[in-house]
Amino acid sequence: MIVQKYGGTSVGSPERIKNVVRRVAKYKALGHQIVVVVSAMSGETNRLIALAKEMQAQPDPRELDMVISTGEQVTVGLVSMGLMQEGLKAKSYTGAQVKITTDSAFTKARILSIDEQNILADLANGYVVVVAGFQGVDKEGNITTLGRGGSDTTGVAIAAALHADECQIYTDVDGVYTTDPRVVPEARRLKSITFEEMLEMASLGSKVLQIRAVEFAGKYKVKLRVLSSFEEEGDGTLITFEEDDKMEQAIISGIAFNRDEAKITVRGVPDKPGIAYQILGPISEANVDVDMIIQNVGVDGSTDFSFTVHRNEFDKAMDVLKNQVQSHIGARDVVGDNKTAKVSVVGVGMRSHVGIASKMFRTLAEEGINIQMISTSEIKISVVIDEKYLELAVRVLHKAFDLDQEPA
Ligand code: ASP
Ligand code: MG
Repeated sequence: MIVQKYGGTSVGSPERIKNVVRRVAKYKALGHQIVVVVSAMSGETNRLIALAKEMQAQPDPRELDMVISTGEQVTVGLVSMGLMQEGLKAKSYTGAQVKITTDSAFTKARILSIDEQNILADLANGYVVVVAGFQGVDKEGNITTLGRGGSDTTGVAIAAALHADECQIYTDVDGVYTTDPRVVPEARRLKSITFEEMLEMASLGSKVLQIRAVEFAGKYKVKLRVLSSFEEEGDGTLITFEEDDKMEQAIISGIAFNRDEAKITVRGVPDKPGIAYQILGPISEANVDVDMIIQNVGVDGSTDFSFTVHRNEFDKAMDVLKNQVQSHIGARDVVGDNKTAKVSVVGVGMRSHVGIASKMFRTLAEEGINIQMISTSEIKISVVIDEKYLELAVRVLHKAFDLDQEPA
């Protein structure tokens, strides 16, 4: 049993939908049971959001979900028709029909349960089942959506509920790359990447998979593969679990980066208990997410406190600090820089190899790139640098860690 998820570009026109149909027919002919999960046609969800905004500047979330869930309802019907035209038995379902039950957090709902009975019965009767991605229904019967890119999560969740053998994510790239090929043309497609690395890559800026889908796959041990819907052959990238991954033994799997960083420093804060809380409490109350945090060693009873936020939230965070925090805690001043970027090297091999950090820092130093902040986890090292050196940093790191070459 295979779940195949097709993204918006893969179903962007009747011609492309016919391509999807041909691929599904091919797999069906090999004897597989197939569930297809589809996104809306490319651009459609954006078009629907824009329509909603013409009616209401801040669209009511329940009504917004009512509107934007329709894109996928169109594509499931079209895919089913295409399959029938090829002589296959096919049946489409909306999320509510399946039924995919979610919480009531409109526009970013989480899946609570999936009723797999109808799907299993249809599969047993020889149908290809086509399910609308991105949507569900809450306990009161309201239609909900799962957040942008949410069809990935639907695909993985259905695969988990059905205990499918594999979940294939078809997209417009042919897999997960060592870094963005637009920045480094020598970037290579990875044959496999561990689930944990994928999670880091997704949260650090690689946009191949919705992060929730990766979390879901990890939790339920779904075998996940990213493939191109425009190529006939090719194995894409398999997302594996570390203990099974004997295929590719590189120490570093990839370089992730993110341009949307902004750095804020509160200078001259008293070095005493409660200060971190008094700075970050109001920031979190303003609903601003904080990423890296650094506090210096105090000198003469005062210290500096720095952290990063998403660039879109920079002004809001600066406002909160200047108006609510600075005088309250007796800080000297608040300075910020919204032209920063984050570069990360990611790899589970870091657990068993020393010297990765020093190699990264040396490589950046040789190019005269100043590191402003550093944070680490077991499998990644991230640095914040001036945005104008981002491309250079990604290129030299990609080379320094031999990512342009197939591992031996
Ligand atoms: N159509 C939705 C979106 O554009 C969901 C998806 O494509 O995964 O975000
Ligand atoms: Mg998508």
